[in-house]
Amino acid sequence: MRMVLLGPPGAGKGTQANMLSDREQFEHLSTGDILRENVKEVTFIGKKAQSFMEKGELVPDGMVIEMMLEKINSGDKGRGFILDGFPRTLYQAKKLDIELDRLNLPIDLVIYFRTSIDTVIFRLTGRRLCKDCGANYHIVNMPPREKGLCDKCGGELYLRKDDNKETIEKRLEVYNTQTKELIDYYGAKGILKEVSGDLEADKVYEKLKDILKKE
Ligand SMILES: [Zn+2]
Repeated sequence: MRMVLLGPPGAGKGTQANMLSDREQFEHLSTGDILRENVKEVTFIGKKAQSFMEKGELVPDGMVIEMMLEKINSGDKGRGFILDGFPRTLYQAKKLDIELDRLNLPIDLVIYFRTSIDTVIFRLTGRRLCKDCGANYHIVNMPPREKGLCDKCGGELYLRKDDNKETIEKRLEVYNTQTKELIDYYGAKGILKEVSGDLEADKVYEKLKDILKKE
């Protein structure tokens, strides 16, 4: 099974992807993690990507896809994978499909996390990230053992600059426009399923398991 998780930031995609990879042996491919890995290991493409990031620019689609494919190719291809945070646009989705078809590893399932604005704002404004390892916390739902410090590595936790109500609302607008196209695209292929991102993580996970059972 090769899956894409679609949904706005704060919909809980990362949490579900982690649960699925821990319990069901899927490989979790998060663009953020893969990018960080390449930059940290100073790979050829990581160096190129970093030059964009340093200028505050988005890393080009082609580079992101190249990194993902490399990761897919170096892993156990029979295991199946979950893409989280990618594709974000119709252009990326089409480009990704062309590459995956070439490897004979097409996406078979896309899950859309339908999530209300209130949920997204609550989750993102309370979110804290580790400066060193990228781990996620939430001041209410998942606080670290020691305030402001990462449980896993002791790194400093921070609030992303764009995780404030006003910016979140703007980001959601852009997100919804882009996602509408993706929903239509994957819907037309007949591989789109929906869950509510407003539910608690365990409930969402149960729904996902139901969907997977039927596939
Ligand atoms: Zn950490």
